[in-house]
Amino acid sequence: MLAGCGHEHQWTEATCTEPKTCTECGATEGEPYGHKWIEATCSEAKHCSECGQKEGEPLAHTWEEATCTKAKTCSVCGYADGEALGHDWMEATHQAPKTCKRCGETEGDVLLYEVPAGFTTDYEFGEFSRFNSFASENGLGGTMIWVDGSYDAISKLDLSSDMGQSMNAYVCTFVDQDNHKWFIQIDLDYYTEIDKYEELCGHSLCVTGEYTGYSQLYEMPAFVVEKIFDKNTGNIIIPTWYSEYASGR
Ligand SMILES: [Zn+2]
Ligand SMILES: [Zn+2]
Ligand SMILES: [Zn+2]
Ligand SMILES: [Zn+2]
Repeated sequence: MLAGCGHEHQWTEATCTEPKTCTECGATEGEPYGHKWIEATCSEAKHCSECGQKEGEPLAHTWEEATCTKAKTCSVCGYADGEALGHDWMEATHQAPKTCKRCGETEGDVLLYEVPAGFTTDYEFGEFSRFNSFASENGLGGTMIWVDGSYDAISKLDLSSDMGQSMNAYVCTFVDQDNHKWFIQIDLDYYTEIDKYEELCGHSLCVTGEYTGYSQLYEMPAFVVEKIFDKNTGNIIIPTWYSEYASGR
């Protein structure tokens, strides 16, 4: 099509700000497209996706203050600045476990008293050591006792030839605060968490359990562990086997 000025218009495409325009005569057709604005974000100012023109500044981050477990973080874009504060621990007491002053998170258990609740120091070691027969015959069977001391090593006792039991027992010699030795049985058979007992070697422990008789073989009174109170860490350990045994009897 020929225009009034007698030439064929040479159109340039419309842009954000200019309409379609003839390069020869400057005639225009239609309207500019107008900018296609992308809203500002934390990292970019409001800008046109077509021509890149900017308006204003990037938004400031919307900071959430750092916490024990999370760095200062922008709630809009997720950008993290710095590091988490880490917990501010207060040591465990008899009333409260190790506790973070800032967020209240706790770890472990309260510190233990010398004698756990429900147990007594009111017995003589001799009561447990003087009998050579089984506990059931001497009236001490089933007595719940506690001992305060430590052990150094756990050994595996092969009971496979004993009365047809195809099992191992984990045992140790526990030396109490009066230097008495006890033979303690941690488990009878399928216990698989022996590592956590080995980690207690040398710790200051309070162990509760059920007296099972005087072991003539080891020449020590023997009992099955019910609970171990680790005074070093405040942790309480209850053998899986024992909890099943206790609930099943
Ligand atoms: Zn033209
Ligand atoms: Zn534009
Ligand atoms: Zn941000
Ligand atoms: Zn904390």
